[in-house]
Amino acid sequence: MQLAVVKESRPGENRVAMVPEVAARVVKSGTAVAVESGAGAAARFADDLFRDAGASVAPDAAAALAGADLVARVQPPTADEVAGYPDAVSVVSFLQPLAHLDLVRALADRGATAYSLDLLPRISRAQSMDALSSQATVAGYRAALSAAEHLAKFFPMFMTAAGTVPPAKVLVMGAGVAGLQAIATARRLGAVVRAYDVRAAAKEEVQSLGAKFVELGLETREGAGGYAREQTPEELARQQELLAAEVAASDVVVTTAQIPGRPAPVLVTAAMVEGMADGAVIVDVAADSGGNCELSRPGEEVTVGGVTIVGMTNPASSMPTHASFLYARNVANFLEVLVRDGALAPDFEDEIVSGTCVVRAGTVVHGPTAEALGLPATAPAGGGTSPTPTPAPTPNPEAST
Ligand code: NAD
Repeated sequence: MQLAVVKESRPGENRVAMVPEVAARVVKSGTAVAVESGAGAAARFADDLFRDAGASVAPDAAAALAGADLVARVQPPTADEVAGYPDAVSVVSFLQPLAHLDLVRALADRGATAYSLDLLPRISRAQSMDALSSQATVAGYRAALSAAEHLAKFFPMFMTAAGTVPPAKVLVMGAGVAGLQAIATARRLGAVVRAYDVRAAAKEEVQSLGAKFVELGLETREGAGGYAREQTPEELARQQELLAAEVAASDVVVTTAQIPGRPAPVLVTAAMVEGMADGAVIVDVAADSGGNCELSRPGEEVTVGGVTIVGMTNPASSMPTHASFLYARNVANFLEVLVRDGALAPDFEDEIVSGTCVVRAGTVVHGPTAEALGLPATAPAGGGTSPTPTPAPTPNPEAST
């Protein structure tokens, strides 16, 4: 059993799918690990660290891939890269299959089996493999730090001989994994934090972090798997109206609201930005999937009427050492499900396997993707579990999870 780890090829991607510490564990379990030279460099993992961990370092991607049973990546490979993969290889990555139909076709043509970690069912047994959550944790932390950096004020309250400085007022919209981490980080920096989410379940989590939950008195929107359901245009308009005063009173607004399979909801309109004070900051973690702020641009900082709007793109890549460490742990835990007695032996009756599998030995088994490709309906990989919805195709081609 051989695992190949190649250098990520998407522009701006600094993460790597395997790190030395985790590679040592994988090697110990009987899987050989071949790493392309330089694959970990941007995440500060030098080739020598991989060698010390018992992995082999190959001079280029082709050498790392030669004889591989499984390829681990962070970002989806390109269709061209897949053309160089060994026949019938397995791939574990974020694939966002509906946004990368050419890639799915290329994987099917190679007879590959591909697992997309963004489709992982959110069940407790799969928590240690939940790469969306681990990377969202990084995103939320980075968002709060970015807000603090852009704000021309302190986050904490200061009582000094020169006078008292009040704490910054931070509003977090969307209190899922990223939002909760943004709350926790802003609180650690001393800000006064308020937060809002359409899911009623978020209230307790927000409060447990010492933030105040903003009650709008609207109907809550809970969907399957702990996710939110999309609101009607009327509900969204009402929400914007009720949140306008909260936004106007905040020094910082961090937005992280997402709906699986749909563009991100607009929570902060241009008019709401106009109502904010000179020097206020908005950090939009959902910029890659359309943006929660009407004025945000992915990967850009724009200033409108004195308000700085940061459209974060691939935030996890900006902290690649620990983002890669967590991702590699997710991959290694997922491998434990796929590997039996030193060989790939996926049990397609297992909902973790069937839920994540997009292509099985060349057949597209993820229903929505097969449909998008105009292929005949295929039973889900394992027969038992219906596939989890995939995140929406994003307007930014370099978008990542
Ligand atoms: P996400 O990234 O899809 O969305 C982020 C947040 O935005 C969610 O909390 C959602 O409710 C919120 N949101 C959507 N539309 C909104 C709107 N119009 N206004 C305000 N907020 C809005 O979600 P996520 O962070 O990946 O996960 C959401 C929840 O899923 C978690 O909080 C948790 O309850 C659950 N979860 C479960 C597991 C598990 O059991 N293994 C793992 C991770 C997350």
